[in-house]
Amino acid sequence: MEKRVEQIKSALQQVGEMRPGSLNQQRTVCGRTGCRCQDPDHPRRHGPYYQLSYVHQGKSTTQFIQKQLVPTVRRQLKNFKTFKALTAEWVDLSLAITKQKLALDRQKLKALQKKQARGTVLNPGP
Ligand SMILES: [Zn+2]
Repeated sequence: MEKRVEQIKSALQQVGEMRPGSLNQQRTVCGRTGCRCQDPDHPRRHGPYYQLSYVHQGKSTTQFIQKQLVPTVRRQLKNFKTFKALTAEWVDLSLAITKQKLALDRQKLKALQKKQARGTVLNPGP
């Protein structure tokens, strides 16, 4: 488990630019009369437009992303997912490791207290 933690630490150093959130594609209908988006038989909506939404420190934000910038943003979103997955795994491992150590320390402490209690009985002192 400790070895995996070390792997996670070095993997985290490799994580590039990142940002939280999700990217949604939208196709819209405009208000222009007779526009192709309102064709009764073959409506062709405008777009796609890309909308980035995320929540940071309790505040949610939505912004449009130009088509040309979509690949960059997708990469950043993917990096954030990697970051989250790695830290979540680290927490899992860390919890398991510290649980084990705590149990071991408890046992040692109990053994020590028993020994001390016996010591008191055998050597009551002056
Ligand atoms: Zn239209």
